[in-house]
Amino acid sequence: MGAVDPRFGLSTERFEAKAQAAAEHWNEAAGRPVLVQDEARGFPVHLRHDWRQERAQEIADLASDLNELQARLEAKSEALRRQDREIDAGNAAYERRLRDYGSDVEAFNAAVSRHNRGASDAPESASLRREEARLNQSRSELRALDTRLARLEEIRNATVREHNALADEINSYVARINRAVATMPPEAGAYRGRQRLDRHGRILGVEREISIYFYYREHDLELFLAHEFGHALGLGHVADPEAVMHAANTIVDFSEVRPLQLMPADIAALQALCEG
Ligand SMILES: [Zn+2]
Repeated sequence: MGAVDPRFGLSTERFEAKAQAAAEHWNEAAGRPVLVQDEARGFPVHLRHDWRQERAQEIADLASDLNELQARLEAKSEALRRQDREIDAGNAAYERRLRDYGSDVEAFNAAVSRHNRGASDAPESASLRREEARLNQSRSELRALDTRLARLEEIRNATVREHNALADEINSYVARINRAVATMPPEAGAYRGRQRLDRHGRILGVEREISIYFYYREHDLELFLAHEFGHALGLGHVADPEAVMHAANTIVDFSEVRPLQLMPADIAALQALCEG
């Protein structure tokens, strides 16, 4: 391992583990160790800090805020679904009770007309008064239920407004992140292989090194290292934007952490190299 700038806040051990994981993808694809760690004869892999990592850190911070906003949006969506269920159940109960109330009122009115047509009968008028009191009670319960439902609707509307505000905020974060990512270099590192000549122009050896200048999340570091290792193996860029060896692989998807995988285009390029 080469120089690991402490400003990355990454231990040399972590960096080494990432490099080993990155190299392993190529070894696996090649079916034999094509990249091995050799402190004595190998070339150094540096983690160099400059403005690129400062900007990458800002982007990573935005992305982490974005994830938090997305979690809050998900919670709001869940609250909305819960409130919808509550309102639906409340409306159904209200309709049911309103229907019952309507038929009770009809029956009561019929009983009243029967009572009025017939002779005045003291026990019956007492039961009618009791029924009337019960109907009044039902009516005020219906009103209370209606008020409660209206309150639930208000709460739901407030949740919808909060949900939409969060969605707007998320959209503006996504736009900010995309704009910022677009200003980053397409490649996070560089592989250099320079022939060392003596004063007669004879080749003494090849000086090789890999430098990584930025990464957003530790997860991305493995991808960026794998890309430079690909160059160290002699690979060029490939057209597939999903491929490790795509020229602009620093445009990452912050919404997910996908395990790194070589794409068929990467493996085809490696096979072409091995055969050549
Ligand atoms: Zn490249």
